[in-house]
Order: sequence, then C-alpha cells, then structure tokens
Amino acid sequence: MVDAHIRGVNNALAAGWRVLERGGSALDAVEEAVVVMEDDETFDAGRGSFLNRDGRVQLDALIMDGATLRAGGVGCVERLRNPVRAARKILSESPHVYFVAEGAERFAAEHGISLCRNEDLIIPREVERLRAYQAQPNSHGNELFAPDSDDVTISHDTVGAVALDQHANIAAATSTGGTLNKAPGRLGDSSLIGCGCYADNESAAASTTGWGEPIMKLVLAKWTADRISAGNLPEWSAQEAMNYLKQRVNGHGGIIVLNRQGRFGIAHNTPRMAWACKTVRQQESGIVKEN
Ligand code: ASP
Repeated sequence: MVDAHIRGVNNALAAGWRVLERGGSALDAVEEAVVVMEDDETFDAGRGSFLNRDGRVQLDALIMDGATLRAGGVGCVERLRNPVRAARKILSESPHVYFVAEGAERFAAEHGISLCRNEDLIIPREVERLRAYQAQPNSHGNELFAPDSDDVTISHDTVGAVALDQHANIAAATSTGGTLNKAPGRLGDSSLIGCGCYADNESAAASTTGWGEPIMKLVLAKWTADRISAGNLPEWSAQEAMNYLKQRVNGHGGIIVLNRQGRFGIAHNTPRMAWACKTVRQQESGIVKEN
C-alpha cells in the first residue's frame, strides 16, 4: 500500500494548498486536507478504518486553531463519514470543546452534517484484517507499531495535517479510527488536546500518530510545542519527541510539527510514515523520513 499512501498524502496536500493559495485560513486548510484522507480508504480514518473488537468503526478527531486556541473534538463516533467536519463545527459553533458518541452525532446532525450507517464505514479489507488478528492467540496489539515487527503490512495510519497561512496563523487536525481490535469505547490520543493534536501560534501546531496510550501519557503534541516555545527548532523537537516517546514509555509513532515562522519537523520511529509537505519553494513527500 506504499503507492496508495504516497498518493493519498499528496492529494491531501493539494487540497490544503488550494485553500492557502487563495488566502484561506490554516484552519480551513487542515480541515480540507484531513477530509481528503478520511475519504481515502487507504488510511485509518473515516471509511476504511480499523475495526474495534466488536467489528464496528469508532472514530475520533480533533481540530485546533493556533490563533484563538479554539478547538473541537469528537470521540467514539460511529455514524460520521468525516469526523473532522463535526469537530470543526464544534470549534466554530459550540461553547464546548469535546463531544462523544451519540451526543457528538446529534450535535453534528443538528448542525447540518448528515449521518451514515456504521456499515457504510466498513470495508472488506478491514473485516478480513480483524478476523485474521482475532484468530491469533494472545495478541495485545502493541507489536503493530514496533519497528522490529516483521509484518509492517498490518499497520496503517491515522491522518493529520498542520498548516501556516498568509496571516501567520497555524492550525492542526488529526483524525483516526484508532487501533485494530480496540475495546469498544476506547479513546486514543488522536482527538485529545495536547496528545494527538495541538496548535498555538505562540509555540507550534502538531499532529501525532502511533500507539495512542503511550502518546497520551506524555501529552506528546503539547510537550513538543513546549520545546519549540522554549527556543528549539521544530525539526529537532520532532526528533526529540520520538526519542522521549521511546525512552520514557517504549512508545512508537510519528509526528508532524510546524511553527509560525514556517519551520517544520517530521519524525517517526515506526518503520514507515507517509508524509508530504509543501512550501512556496518546494514540495516533497515520502514513506520514510530521514532526519
Ligand atoms: N494514535 C491512534 C490511536 O491510538 C492510532 C494511530 O495513530 O494509528 O488511536
């Protein structure tokens, strides 16, 4: 699925760039980029996500605006094709920051987002993946993200985007189906402020992927943003975040991070992480990021 991942992140990049090019906000750019990846079955977000232990899709997403610190998150939603759209509505139209499960779906429906059936989010590849996984005895899941795993084909990614706009505002968004065979109701890092996603103009915008429980314990996106507000470069801070994740809690994952000056870092300690980035001067993408 390497080509599909690279194509997918480039399509997302193009959607985000279209917004920025016409003077749109970083917030709109990350939303549009994430929607493209939620709609792409390649990724663990929206339709095509990993299934939970009961064979259902349960989605989490967060979006955050670095200019205002407003954020919107949804957790454990089962009837939204694009959870990031609901998260954006929460950010823009609710005094609250976070909605879960049916309450989140009701909020979305009340704000003009149509609900789908859970079956509409399930694809045969994931039904088969869950069946094969559950047939193995004693699988607890952590090995899916480990660099020494001999089966890298079993993992596919949460999606995220960070952007800087012409008004020097930054934003971040993350969306996920979570981890394969997760317990129903389990929430990972992706949609929690500061864990899987964070944005503050005074520090950085960051989005993480990887095994959520270790990332949550370190509040990793905020930890990385704090390194940047302390004067470190995003490229160094991204790598340091991966070192910290590994050393402190033996975690595996990846991060993208961007500051207001347009400096960015991309790092992962998993075998692969599809990424793409574009500035006015250059465009790059890949499946492994060498730092
Ligand atoms: N971080 C996500 C979670 O634990 C999974 C992933 O990034 O692939 O829910």
